[in-house]
Amino acid sequence: MDRMLKTLLYCPLLFCQQLYGRTNAIMPSTEASLYSGADNIITLDIGSLRPVLNLNTNKLVLFHNSFYGDCQRFAPIYKGIARDLYKWRRLLQFYAVDCAQERNTELCREFNVHETPSLRFFNPDTKRKQKILGSVIPTQDPLFITAVLADLLGQYEYEANVANFRPLKNSDTAKTLFLDHQGLKNPVKFIALVLQPKDTYIGRDTLLELLPFKEVAVRIVPDAQIFTNFGLKPSNQTLAIIDRKGSAQYLAPFRIKSKDYAITVGEFLKKLNYMPDPPIPVSVAPNVNQFLDQRNQAVLAEVLKPPLKVYRADLEQAIDKLLHVELHKWFYYQVRNLEGLRLIINVLRNLNPLNKDGKTLLTNLYKSMDVYRIKGSDFKDSIDINEKPLKVFQAKRYIGCIGSRPFLRGFTCSLWTLFHHWTVEAAKPPNYFLPGKILLAIHGFVEFFLRCTDCSEHFLEMAKRRNMNAVKTYDEQILWLWEAHNEVNQRLAGDPITEDPKFPKIQFPSVKNCPTCRNNNSEWQEKEVLKYLKRIYDIKNLSFYGLPTSQGYV
Ligand SMILES: Cc1cc2nc3c(=O)[nH]c(=O)nc-3n(C[C@H](O)[C@H](O)[C@H](O)COP(=O)(O)OP(=O)(O)OC[C@H]3O[C@@H](n4cnc5c(N)ncnc54)[C@H](O)[C@@H]3O)c2cc1C
Repeated sequence: MDRMLKTLLYCPLLFCQQLYGRTNAIMPSTEASLYSGADNIITLDIGSLRPVLNLNTNKLVLFHNSFYGDCQRFAPIYKGIARDLYKWRRLLQFYAVDCAQERNTELCREFNVHETPSLRFFNPDTKRKQKILGSVIPTQDPLFITAVLADLLGQYEYEANVANFRPLKNSDTAKTLFLDHQGLKNPVKFIALVLQPKDTYIGRDTLLELLPFKEVAVRIVPDAQIFTNFGLKPSNQTLAIIDRKGSAQYLAPFRIKSKDYAITVGEFLKKLNYMPDPPIPVSVAPNVNQFLDQRNQAVLAEVLKPPLKVYRADLEQAIDKLLHVELHKWFYYQVRNLEGLRLIINVLRNLNPLNKDGKTLLTNLYKSMDVYRIKGSDFKDSIDINEKPLKVFQAKRYIGCIGSRPFLRGFTCSLWTLFHHWTVEAAKPPNYFLPGKILLAIHGFVEFFLRCTDCSEHFLEMAKRRNMNAVKTYDEQILWLWEAHNEVNQRLAGDPITEDPKFPKIQFPSVKNCPTCRNNNSEWQEKEVLKYLKRIYDIKNLSFYGLPTSQGYV
């Protein structure tokens, strides 16, 4: 682990632009969040991140995307780390920024968040170094993250009365050490001395372990000879404690481990009635019934009624999130990512179930992209300016993609739905796109815009393995996506974090929804599958449920 730490690149990034404020910077109180103060993690957004980075402490900020399964899977790990390291809170605070929220799109772009989850460490000097984007901690392994954090915390020179990781000097005495802890307000009554042999971290780690005890400071002793400066006899002892009067004694830990050192010092203090700060309280799981309010319950009941339907509201939500969140990942669009973006907007403008205003927006947007390079912020402005006089998005919630708990289904479900809708619509006259072009647009989206690293790696590998480029007809295009989606379903089936128990991942379509799609031996009947997909994803058959139908599509 030490070698890994030494070779680890902390990847400092340059902060290129000032953040600018937005009116929707405040998190609505009704918004579900993966994280809460109960787990020692504070949720930040475009309005609150910068002031927090200016705080004179260490900060660990998780940039995540609540849409995606990989971030949802990382959530219990991050919570576990934050709860475990609550004891370090005098030196380190934990935060999270959700890049799936529209108000945070500029923030996530400006902090170069191309992949999520992305952990960034900021030391207390961030205020002075405005250009720093944080040190990336490139791992999701909790032990490794903890080790990196200990390393980073131990490198910083704090004010001596906060924490002091510098080894003692040969000239140090009890008097010189307590000079750092003077003043009526300072509670430090003892200093623990820990012998730290060269290339070990036992002193640093004991200091971190003992942070919950305000009455003790820990100092690192690089050479056993220094114990004699405190009136202790030379011996093979490795841990000692001194009080303000200068009297010193060795303590005998059970083993030479920082945890045992901390227990031994803790017991010494507890005998004198000095107690540690209380640990973080056990957090209570959120009440799922609160999420399933009456309206959501009604939607869920409607959606679960057979036969399966495809809802315009979901397609609208997918396009809304694409235009306002997901397509804003880059500082610049040029060459390949611009080509990818242009193709997505072109497909969207021709194959969408939006109202007249929506079609106008997408057409104007596409026209504005006839350039060789677009700045990310200009692309966003172009959407905002074009959208302002129009009334495009009517859907207020996911319908077919509703989850029975927060963070299940939603955006990624609506994205798949949109992709299938595209392949089916592309097969109809006037055949806006050549066969294979829709898959190319999806491939481009996954390659350049899908922030879920797991998803995009798997999909791109699958596209190669399943020979996506060999697709020659519209029907093959529909079936290619169907099979690919079923492969993803199979891989994710039974995942306790991302699978909604009300919508288990199946090999689609179910026998119930399409009895003719399989023969008696349960083998797929592709002609029947094709017929079924063409029927349910056809624009003519989309359900208006969940939309203001009287005025939604004029
Ligand atoms: C390109 C892509 C790659 C992804 N990769 C990953 C990943 O690697 N790891 C991960 O955790 N999550 C991944 N996701 C998200 C994941 O696939 C699901 O979207 C998410 O778990 C929500 O699942 P769901 O139950 O709502 O159904 P979804 O799988 O999202 O499907 C949405 C709807 O499409 C219909 N449907 C299902 N299967 C088919 C099919 N074969 N053909 C036609 N229609 C179908 C059903 O009505 C279903 O409700 C990916 C998403 C996308 C868009």
